[in-house]
Amino acid sequence: MTSLWWARRDLRLHDNPALLEAQRTADAAAVFAWTPALHWWSGRRSAHLARSLWSLREDTGGALAVRRGEAAQVVLAAARQVDARVVFAAQEFSPAGVAEQGAVAAALEADGRHVEFVGSPYAVAPGRVLKSDGTPYRVFTPFLESWRAHGWRAPAIPASPDRLARLAPADNDVDLDLHAAHCDATDPVYPQVEFREARLLEAAEDFVAHDVERYAAERDRPDLDATSHLSRELAFGQIHPRTLLGMLSPLRNEGARVFQSQLAWREFHADTLWHAPQAQRHSLTVVLDEDDWAHGAAADAAFAAWREGRTGFTLVDAGMRQLAQTGWMHNRVRMVVASFLVKDLRVPWQRGAEHFRRTLLDYDHAQNQLNWQWVAGTGRDASPFFRIFNPRTQLERFDPHLRYVQRWIPELDTPAYPAPMIDHREARETTLHLYHQAKARR
Ligand SMILES: Cc1cc2nc3c(=O)[nH]c(=O)nc-3n(C[C@H](O)[C@H](O)[C@H](O)COP(=O)(O)OP(=O)(O)OC[C@H]3O[C@@H](n4cnc5c(N)ncnc54)[C@H](O)[C@@H]3O)c2cc1C
Repeated sequence: MTSLWWARRDLRLHDNPALLEAQRTADAAAVFAWTPALHWWSGRRSAHLARSLWSLREDTGGALAVRRGEAAQVVLAAARQVDARVVFAAQEFSPAGVAEQGAVAAALEADGRHVEFVGSPYAVAPGRVLKSDGTPYRVFTPFLESWRAHGWRAPAIPASPDRLARLAPADNDVDLDLHAAHCDATDPVYPQVEFREARLLEAAEDFVAHDVERYAAERDRPDLDATSHLSRELAFGQIHPRTLLGMLSPLRNEGARVFQSQLAWREFHADTLWHAPQAQRHSLTVVLDEDDWAHGAAADAAFAAWREGRTGFTLVDAGMRQLAQTGWMHNRVRMVVASFLVKDLRVPWQRGAEHFRRTLLDYDHAQNQLNWQWVAGTGRDASPFFRIFNPRTQLERFDPHLRYVQRWIPELDTPAYPAPMIDHREARETTLHLYHQAKARR
């Protein structure tokens, strides 16, 4: 008998409970569905996905099948091919993931089979940590305490690649090289999408052994490069947060504790989206009246200057250029560019979030939408709307020697670099005035 592992956002052989469960009583076949929904992805992320699947296929001795089509159709066809009665998969909690797994479950059941969900992309699955009255947490700090108290299982043993059965070829098998080649070859990010699981684990161990200690003190400094750079692999499930929490557990230093709490932010945002799926598009708190947001050609021009990193505010521009050239941006700078767009230029957060979706390699729907809401002051436990970052003060505090901005803006000290596109103090006053007016009207 063969079982089936439906690979989703858990593209790894180590610490993978769904795959282990599929292999527990039988050899498992493995399938990934290259769905039409992936067209919504940026070329960059598709390129990384294609390279990752290619690498995982190599690590499984060619056993992983990647097939084009809706997940329900792909998974059902693969289950029939090997006559698997049970399909094992990690559970998703985002609105799209929930809809997809519902369709897969229905298709399998109609055929006398079923899907078993084992694990999720989180150490503690969304919905598990609740207040004593049974309602979800709205504020991070008490969530963090309960999340720590709840705890998580120890990392699982690595799955064995030789116990994977190969599916016979099918018409909808995806040629992964071709997929990678479809991505815009002029995008500077394209050559950076290489991936190997073994190298990733080494990098994570290296970060925990050598760098996490200084994480608490230095993580806000974009010039020091003191963060883990693991967000992309966490987003794709190439490393599980539980694996990292396991590596951190013997450590008692402040850096390890702060790093753990950043992983908890990831879980908090996923939990919030699970309980409030409307948060993927709509503000959870209204801060300005509809007419107060920038509209029309002026808004488009302001947005273009922001997107292209030519606002004349160096930290904003450096961040936007780092994003364009690498598909990643430092967290502190993400906060500054997002605040500038929403609170200085008064462009709704959804527009900025959409640009991030197209450009971030670590794009994660829950993290992106909820972090934007956090900065915009529209989320549940958000930075208050009236707290408006001053891009110059932020620069002085977090890039004191200007190393970060000089790195990303080569023309910084030349006449080619634009003057500031707005007066920050004026923009701040107008925004606060509109905010207080809107508040008084509600
Ligand atoms: C406007 C905005 C949009 C964002 N969009 C995304 C996104 O699409 N995908 C994404 O993974 N992160 C997003 N973040 C969160 C954060 O900026 C990145 O996770 C972090 O910069 C990734 O770099 P790192 O792996 O070196 O982080 P580290 O500092 O090394 O942190 C380790 C891990 O903790 C998690 N983490 C850290 N900070 C946060 C946070 N604020 N919220 C949630 N998880 C966090 C990430 O998984 C990260 O990889 C966004 C933040 C902002 C302000």
